[in-house]
Amino acid sequence: MLYLDHNATTPVLPAVIEAMGEALRRHWANPSSQHEAGQAARGALQHARAQVARCLGCQPAELVFTSGATEANHIALRGAVGHGGRAGLVVSAAEHAGVHKLVHQLGRQPGPQGVPVGVIGLQPSGGLDLAAAEALIGEATALVSVMAANNETGVLMPTAEIARLAHARGALLHVDATQLIGKLPFDFARSGADLVSVSAHKFGGPKGVGALIVRKGLNWPALFAGSQERGRRGGTENLPGIVGFGVAAEHQAWTAGNWHDRSAKLAALRDRFEARLRTACPELVVYGASQPRLPQTSFLRLGHAHADLALQKLSSLGALASSGSACSSGGQAASHVLAAMGVPREEALCAVRLSFAPDTPAADLLALADAWPRLVSDGHACSTFSHPPTGVAA
Ligand code: PMP
Repeated sequence: MLYLDHNATTPVLPAVIEAMGEALRRHWANPSSQHEAGQAARGALQHARAQVARCLGCQPAELVFTSGATEANHIALRGAVGHGGRAGLVVSAAEHAGVHKLVHQLGRQPGPQGVPVGVIGLQPSGGLDLAAAEALIGEATALVSVMAANNETGVLMPTAEIARLAHARGALLHVDATQLIGKLPFDFARSGADLVSVSAHKFGGPKGVGALIVRKGLNWPALFAGSQERGRRGGTENLPGIVGFGVAAEHQAWTAGNWHDRSAKLAALRDRFEARLRTACPELVVYGASQPRLPQTSFLRLGHAHADLALQKLSSLGALASSGSACSSGGQAASHVLAAMGVPREEALCAVRLSFAPDTPAADLLALADAWPRLVSDGHACSTFSHPPTGVAA
């Protein structure tokens, strides 16, 4: 099996499995209990907190453990409404579907409770429209939310510029860094962000655990009231998950020394892969290719072959990928990211995302690039796929 869906989730690291098993066996007590067993569990929790903080460049006290990035995004956005006497939210069109669904709900609340929401559009290249951001962020904006890297195209968003823009107008910046962490370096202290969402399962940790980093000094309301996490997230902590998160984060911190080499090698492999695909299918379109992007993500379409067909052929070759975000695939919904880039729906329905990892075998990936397009086109030229071309290739 050639697993090419690392943006959906990653295999759990063996050291994470080991540490989680140990936490389940030894630290089953409640970390809030005052007795010895509870305090031992608390020690394991604090150790994991220090590991995650070291990896993300934040202080341990700035971390609020959550059930994942979706919850972290909800705490950040819901908590912002009314912050500093401001109600407005500005989010990018590239944000995760969960963020869009949330702001849609917030915007539709009746009467004065309805939150004014602005959406920063994307350029056809997949990059953020900075002029639109400039126009949308104003004196009534409480929070701007822009992701660090898009989960579908892999395009890196200019969060440092957005931080300057937001802060100049007195607004806060939330960055969903879910797809960046584990793939490129991240340092909260230098990021300019006030709040950052992270998910453990995108870099070798378990599912169902993540964190929101809340900059020191920001008094952030809880979504779930309770006394855990300094009153910022109630509920007994998912200790085995948090321990696994800590070990995955430590693994990232170890590999941090050779980020540059690692990402240069991955980007070179991705470029060779895309070049080989183009040889077999000159009609190849790679979304976001002109922008700085994650080194291991290729979001593309083979001419006008529908994504279902392309994925089926990939799977017959033993390769697993997805059509855009795993969270929205499975239906006929076209990618909202491609829609924001102006890609016609018929073309967006042909998009397939391949996301690999440093240990993806290069020879297998390149062999796939030779075999896959031929299989998809069923012996015909790429341009004669069953779905007729519509509009201009993005
Ligand atoms: N944000 C982004 C950018 C993501 O890619 C994902 C996962 N697809 C999420 C948030 C949600 O993360 P989680 O699964 O931890 O809730």
